[in-house]
Amino acid sequence: MNDVELFLAHSIELEREAARRYEELAAGMQTEGNRELQSFFARMGANSRKHLAQAVARSGFRDVPVLKSHEFRWPEGVAPETAGWAGVDALIDAATAVQLALDSERRGHAYYQALAVSSTDPEVKVLARSFADEEAEHVAELEKWLVRCTAA
Ligand code: ZN
Repeated sequence: MNDVELFLAHSIELEREAARRYEELAAGMQTEGNRELQSFFARMGANSRKHLAQAVARSGFRDVPVLKSHEFRWPEGVAPETAGWAGVDALIDAATAVQLALDSERRGHAYYQALAVSSTDPEVKVLARSFADEEAEHVAELEKWLVRCTAA
């Protein structure tokens, strides 16, 4: 992917999906009565939305295209953070919720990482690199949560 506006259009979709899933997970943890994890997921959802708005503003691109679903070019035909997402069961437990989020963050990281390596557009490379770094931090945070949840 060598067009920065196209890259941002994909990132917007990816982050929007991520935010929506974190909101579902936060709702699941409310049902579960896990306030700490609920507020963590809520914060991650808000961060997804904020992070992308900042990236778009910082890059100064105004003409990010609005793509129809068939116009997206995902590695496996589906947004990486959405792959394997069957929705959150109302009775999801904390460890399963964290595992779902972790799987999705790992796919997001792999997606940006691959673009940072394969793109020939220097702007796409820089943005993909910084997004990959951000996803790596999310992965690390969730790995800590997983340890806590499985130890409990
Ligand atoms: Zn993330």
